[in-house]
Amino acid sequence: RLIVFEGTDGTGKSTQLKLLAKALQEKGLAVVSTREPTDGKYGQQIRELYSDRGNVSLEEELNLFLADRQEHVESFLRPALHDGKIILCDRYYLSTIAYQGAAGLEPSMILNRNSFAPVPDLAILFHAPIAIGVKRITQNRGDTQNDFEKEGYLKKVAQQFELLNLPYIRRINASGTIETVHREVLKLVLQLLEA
Ligand code: C5P
Repeated sequence: RLIVFEGTDGTGKSTQLKLLAKALQEKGLAVVSTREPTDGKYGQQIRELYSDRGNVSLEEELNLFLADRQEHVESFLRPALHDGKIILCDRYYLSTIAYQGAAGLEPSMILNRNSFAPVPDLAILFHAPIAIGVKRITQNRGDTQNDFEKEGYLKKVAQQFELLNLPYIRRINASGTIETVHREVLKLVLQLLEA
């Protein structure tokens, strides 16, 4: 099973992923956690862009995300799926559609270029007002706002997420407490696993 966590910055995806992993492990389930961009060579290049985006075009940036994903799919996701594991992935191709779509690329083109990637069984889309997310990022992570995290851009990203309409997407209101959101996440995931 492939379960992906998607949403704008600061909506609590990573915190919720950790809590879910723990809850599923306690039930004796075989869970593995991962994230994109990965820590592989392309993922590292992408992370370097976060501090200096000036030098690459949107197309080149997209190609890096796709190369990173291809590597992730082949070296990690497919083998884990084959082994019957439950994979929890922090960001996947819906983030690419929303972020690079908001930056100016055509969302349907981005989706098409991801046709090599396994389709998730469940995509949990975390939704919270942008102001809350930005506040969480600057307070908790001590990040100063960089290009990726400008409020205006994130609003566009949120709009792109809202436009997505795929059967495996479930939306969650992420503005509640960690515990309330966790209960909702767990409910969705148990529904999937029991189906
Ligand atoms: O939230 P997370 O730590 O996973 O994201 C890292 C950064 O990468 C965020 O600032 C996010 O805005 C950006 N990002 C992006 N395009 C993607 C995925 C993430 O700009 N496709």
